[in-house]
Order: sequence, then C-alpha cells, then structure tokens
Amino acid sequence: MVKFFNSVIGFLFPPACPLCDTPVSIHGELCAECWAAIDWITWPYCVRCGYPFPADLDLGGTPLCPICASGKTELDWIRCACVYDAASRSAMLPFKHGGRIKYARFMSRAMMWALRDINVDADIVMPVPLANRRLFSRGYNQATLLARPIARTLDVCLDVDSVRRKFRPDMGHKNARQRLENIHGVFSVVRPDKIRGRKILLVDDVMTTGATFSELCRVLMRAGASAVYGVTFCRVVRTI
Ligand SMILES: [Zn+2]
Ligand SMILES: [Zn+2]
Repeated sequence: MVKFFNSVIGFLFPPACPLCDTPVSIHGELCAECWAAIDWITWPYCVRCGYPFPADLDLGGTPLCPICASGKTELDWIRCACVYDAASRSAMLPFKHGGRIKYARFMSRAMMWALRDINVDADIVMPVPLANRRLFSRGYNQATLLARPIARTLDVCLDVDSVRRKFRPDMGHKNARQRLENIHGVFSVVRPDKIRGRKILLVDDVMTTGATFSELCRVLMRAGASAVYGVTFCRVVRTI
C-alpha cells in the first residue's frame, strides 16, 4: 500500500533536484551536477573541529589544526558537510531567508554523512536557538529544520526549548573578536534539569568563526552538560 502510494506521489510529483529542478531518481536528492559543484569536506581534516586540510598533506591518522592543537576548541568535536562558497551559498541563502525549507532534506542527509567517522553518543540534539524576534519575522528556525531529521535518524530527543537566545543586531561582516563579543551572554539555559549530565549535539546551518558554538558550549557546560558536539551543513574555511 505504501509502495503504491509512493508511486502515485512519484507520478504526480516526479522527484527533481531541489536546487535546479533537473529530474532525479529519489525525492530530495541533488542532481549529479549540483552535487559535483559543492565542495564536500573529505579526508584529511582536523579530527577535533573538522577543518579541511589539502588532500596531499600527510599529517598522520589523527591530524589536528593549530587551533585545536593549542586547546582552544571548547566542543568535543565538530563536523561540517561542505565548504561555504558560491555553490553552497546558492543553497544556503534561499534556505535561510527565502523559505526554501525543502532543502533541509538533502542538507540534513549531508550532515549525517559528515558524521560518518564518529560514533555519535549524544542524548540530545539541539538546534542553535534563534531569538524570538527573528523566529517570528522569518517564520522558522532553519537550524531546527536540519536538527529534526538528524534527531530522528540518531533516535534521540530534539530539544528546542531548554536554551533561550536574546536578540542582538546582525553579525554580518564582523571579525572573529567582534563576533565573540557580540554573542557573549546571548544564551541562557531555562531548563537546566534537561541539560545536566547530558551529551548534546548542536546543529546549525553554517559555522563562520565558531563563536556561536563556543558561547553556547560555554553556557551548556556551566549548566552541567557532560559533552557538547556540533554539526553544520557548511563552514567558512579561512587559512589558519
Ligand atoms: Zn541540480
Ligand atoms: Zn581543529
């Protein structure tokens, strides 16, 4: 019956690439061309924060980037599916600001793929909270759209209400230090009973400097979280 239903849906709405509408075989999949345009992060990368290294750089089996090697990464680990560039931006901007929420399907699948080398032992999947003012104007938190299918795949709880975020003006075009100052103190744990002793996987659409993850990690650890991990669809890659 389900099979029949799926074939009727497939006939009425043939699967198409969410980015360019080219016919594809499975709903939510990218076409070969759009897939190839995205700079997916593959080995080698920093085993702690997922920072991608050049393919020909041999750093051994457990490479660390200079930031992680100096112990400055608060999260236990971070993984990102692809590099933030023109191709991934062409998916990210309409997803975040243009209501193209159907992109969540291929993005969350790519994020699960980014976790392939990790045995994820999280108790909670938590989208990075959006300030209420932004949530009302945008109508959705894009991080929640990504976190929901990830929580379902990992078979753990989705937590969207244990942490609140205060509204602050946009951080675009600011450097790492300014971003850190701007984000300081925006998060507050409102349900500490749900955080204490838990391992938490944070989910966001993009990682820029890592300031948001660091600040949220700090607040969660203070509330008694036992581990904090992070996964995003894409990340800004600067030479470090
Ligand atoms: Zn396409
Ligand atoms: Zn690193």
